[in-house]
Amino acid sequence: MRILIIEDEKKMASFLERGLKEEHYTVDVAYDGEKGLEYAMTHEYDLLIVDWMLPKMSGIELCHQLRNEGKKNPILILTAKDSVEDKIKGLDQGADDYLTKPFSFDELLARVRALLRRPAHLADKTVLECANLKLDLIKRQAWAGETEIALSQKEFALLEFLMRHAGEVVSRTAIAEHVWDLHFDPMSNTIDVYINFLRKKIGETVSKGKIETVRGIGYRLACP
Ligand code: CA
Repeated sequence: MRILIIEDEKKMASFLERGLKEEHYTVDVAYDGEKGLEYAMTHEYDLLIVDWMLPKMSGIELCHQLRNEGKKNPILILTAKDSVEDKIKGLDQGADDYLTKPFSFDELLARVRALLRRPAHLADKTVLECANLKLDLIKRQAWAGETEIALSQKEFALLEFLMRHAGEVVSRTAIAEHVWDLHFDPMSNTIDVYINFLRKKIGETVSKGKIETVRGIGYRLACP
């Protein structure tokens, strides 16, 4: 899952970036509202974490503009403001949730997980399943039947994306947009390499789920 952090305080931004990366998320950072809006309009983010007070464009203005453009990414607003009117204003402009600084990183993570579960078909799911493949998003464990599969962070993120779209064809572009960050080179064969890592690890188990190649488009996780 790919997250965009828009936060001008460098220390806070790098604290969030590091913490979220440790939790396997793919993370990009913008340090002002305009750059944040540009990134959000040109890439597919699963979640935006937006500071309220930003140079060039406030977090609230950014929410407003994104919603006007029809963008539906979940947005979590971070701010030192904590009056009720401010919260209502933020939510009215299209933010989905609100966290007042200072906050505990564990609380931020819980809110991030809740917002990423928002699509109706994934509501309340902290464990994804496809055939006998199981992915526990909180414990960060993967299983095929009784066998635990040891995955790197990237492999886990890739399998999570495939499982969220189980049975559907996902393009290489969609995979790149949701699993890799801004530094990803679209001309490289990185995705295919990681798919092969995953296939190998899954193939060594009694998995009934299988990653199929859809020629010229991408991949599909088949769940018989
Ligand atoms: Ca700020």
